[in-house]
Amino acid sequence: MLVAIGECMVEIAPAGDGNYKFGYAGDTFNAAWACRMLSPADDAVRYATAIGTDWISDQLLEFMAGSGLDLSSVTRNPARSVGLYAIKLEDGERSFAYWRSGSAATALADDPGLLESSLRGANQALFSGITLAILPQDGRDNLYRALSKARDNGTRIILDPNYRARLWPSADTARAELTRFSRIANCVLPSFSDEADLFGDTSPEMTADRFTDLGVDEVIVKDGPAPALCAWDGHRAFVPSITVDTVVDTTGAGDAFNGAYLAARSQGAVPSAAAAFAHEVAAISVQTRGALIPRDTRQRITSQ
Ligand code: ADP
Repeated sequence: MLVAIGECMVEIAPAGDGNYKFGYAGDTFNAAWACRMLSPADDAVRYATAIGTDWISDQLLEFMAGSGLDLSSVTRNPARSVGLYAIKLEDGERSFAYWRSGSAATALADDPGLLESSLRGANQALFSGITLAILPQDGRDNLYRALSKARDNGTRIILDPNYRARLWPSADTARAELTRFSRIANCVLPSFSDEADLFGDTSPEMTADRFTDLGVDEVIVKDGPAPALCAWDGHRAFVPSITVDTVVDTTGAGDAFNGAYLAARSQGAVPSAAAAFAHEVAAISVQTRGALIPRDTRQRITSQ
């Protein structure tokens, strides 16, 4: 079982007819969704988060329930509501506005006991730099302890650093926290552009080396349409992506990659083979509007 920990937000996006429509997305949720769509039915995928008790939180919960995810670790906080973001589309360029500070998910790690129970029985636990950035320091420390304990009990800890400058109080804090959490991660799934921004890496090799030196035994450096660098157990391989003629929307491509990668790994694929599969899924993601992969992604790949 994979457990993904983080925030799923309500999205308000142009419907194409001048109106706006509701959607639901968030990096760890997008990855959990992809993993669910691509895993055998008996391999549970759990999403751990906190939402409110108002109607919009109910609506989000209903949407999440429709995906087949295990929602036993979604807690409800009557004092807060869900985060929200709106998308503006102008000449094919998307810009985002966010209302997420103080959302229910920012309190998801307040209770160490709940965190611990959400990780129970998991062989893989995914969290991201966005999960860390939205938490207060106490929450981050609780999460650190819960993940360390899960790791000691055999859970593989997986981090996508997903650096978003505006969510962190400073770049120094982001560097310090992402480095601290990388030390307890078994697997890190960074995007090269984020690592170049935050750490000044000048090549994917440099990114892979930095995580390997921190003790991470499996690193997959995503790099948009360029090959992904897979570094594991002393192996190094560049795995080429799929050529896509018309890119529609790259939102969530990295998350789709993560979900597909973890689904393939839990079904026994070695990292380079899992990355090749993840590229196929991410290629479908960039040709689809929105952050969530289509429900029939698996059929589309097997029928190619
Ligand atoms: P993020 O969305 O996290 O910034 P990347 O931009 O590195 O991540 O992309 C993640 C994955 O999405 C890539 O490894 C690749 O599989 C796929 N991808 C992204 N852009 C393209 C593209 N233009 N053509 C084909 N695949 C792409």
